[in-house]
Amino acid sequence: MEWRDAAHQNDAMTAAPTLPLIAIDGPSGVGKSTTARRVAARLDWQYLDTGAMYRATALAIHRAGISLDDRPSLERLLSMLNLAQKGERMYLAGEDVSEAIRSHEVTQRVTPVSANARVREVLVDQQRHIGSSGRWVVDGRDIGTVVFPKACCKIFLTASAESRAKRRFLELQAKGQPQAFEAVLEDLQRRDLADRSRAIAPLLKAADAVELDSSDMSLDQVVDWIVARHQAHP
Ligand code: C5P
Repeated sequence: MEWRDAAHQNDAMTAAPTLPLIAIDGPSGVGKSTTARRVAARLDWQYLDTGAMYRATALAIHRAGISLDDRPSLERLLSMLNLAQKGERMYLAGEDVSEAIRSHEVTQRVTPVSANARVREVLVDQQRHIGSSGRWVVDGRDIGTVVFPKACCKIFLTASAESRAKRRFLELQAKGQPQAFEAVLEDLQRRDLADRSRAIAPLLKAADAVELDSSDMSLDQVVDWIVARHQAHP
């Protein structure tokens, strides 16, 4: 074997295998979950909502009345944490908490919970376990950078804070839970800052992710774009 062949063989052996997994990361309110769910349905892949996992964990911690500084109690809770996603529903110890985890209270409480190192270790482990077999579309903040760096397709979905706040404002109105536009915008900006500046797994575009600014795009256009991108670079 010539040295060149040997080098090629070596390259092939060390080249990182990619996972059949589409990672969709981006800031709050950009429509990642809806987009990811629709992309998964189009491809007939499974969908994992990692934000829902952090939210359900925040709910469990709140219900148990545990402080994040109380390490032994937190460890006990994490060791018994029983999360399951079935279709669009999220279950905590068998209870459907899909609505509860979207409450304003949980949205406020999830930021410090998702910045906690132990919480992240446990949830990232569970996410890797789930995503290691089958074909997945996974959305979050650190999917392409930390959880699945070998994802075959990485999308960093963005939109201006104003257009994200406008969508959220209209969503809340439609749900009969209106809030002032300024309050919605401030809340998004607060969460953006917390997600981008936290020490562990901050919101960051992976070097090999492709960025899509969806400010002036409809949901259908975003889904079409991601599916086309994936099919062009399977
Ligand atoms: O995406 P969603 O807004 O439901 O996520 C809830 C919270 O969980 C976010 O505010 C973010 O701080 C956190 N999160 C995270 N890492 C992920 C997914 C969500 O830190 N992979």
